[in-house]
Amino acid sequence: MSLKIKYEDLENLKILIQKSKNTLVFLSEEISHISGVPNYKMPHGLVDSPWQGIDNSRLLSFDFLLVHPQIFYSWSKEVWYDLDKYKENQVHKLIAELQKESLITKVYTESIDMLCQKAIIQDVVEINGNPSAFCLKCGKYFSYDKVSKFVHQNEVPYCDMCGTLLKSQVRLDEQVISKQELLKWKSDFIRCNLCILFGTPSSRDEIISLFNLLDFEKLIVISDKATPFDSKSYLKFNNIDKVVSFLEDSFI
Ligand SMILES: [Zn+2]
Repeated sequence: MSLKIKYEDLENLKILIQKSKNTLVFLSEEISHISGVPNYKMPHGLVDSPWQGIDNSRLLSFDFLLVHPQIFYSWSKEVWYDLDKYKENQVHKLIAELQKESLITKVYTESIDMLCQKAIIQDVVEINGNPSAFCLKCGKYFSYDKVSKFVHQNEVPYCDMCGTLLKSQVRLDEQVISKQELLKWKSDFIRCNLCILFGTPSSRDEIISLFNLLDFEKLIVISDKATPFDSKSYLKFNNIDKVVSFLEDSFI
């Protein structure tokens, strides 16, 4: 695949962004990898290399958390509860700036690292949640900072009101996306005038279904890799850095 980007396509993108009244941006997890954040489902490496003899898929289950909270939180310590070491990157910064100019309405992210919050991006939908937590009994909310403090003292986080175990708000694979949530998301996708996809989205059925709702004339794909929507998109750019630099020069 040629990495050359046509200047006329970039100009076209600029005009589309200027004209659109309702632009939605979708950030795949790859965008966090630019900041050095590992895949949150495999914080310790490859999918087929178990952590302390336990398969990653087993660790990422609600049952495992209930039975072995100490192990679950030890496993998640290095990435989920060590987010302060990661910084927002050029993509996040660009989106925050475009939002200030009212050029982006809504941002969807598949990452759990809260880098959008760090970049002060507004109206973010965290599809897979984030590592803040809530009490499994009384529902009290605990911020990321509070949970992280427990975890870094090698303690299991329990509720200070009722003493019950806290559950991280990261969405585990087995957790369904509620109908209500999905309806809201679908409405955003249907209503947008322009959808800009950064990176390759996950293959989760619900996510694919959102993109399939789009009139593909509205879809712009900016991804170094191939995505399932490349052939349907109005424009596909295969170099994130170059497009981000062009948009910075154009709008900031
Ligand atoms: Zn409680």
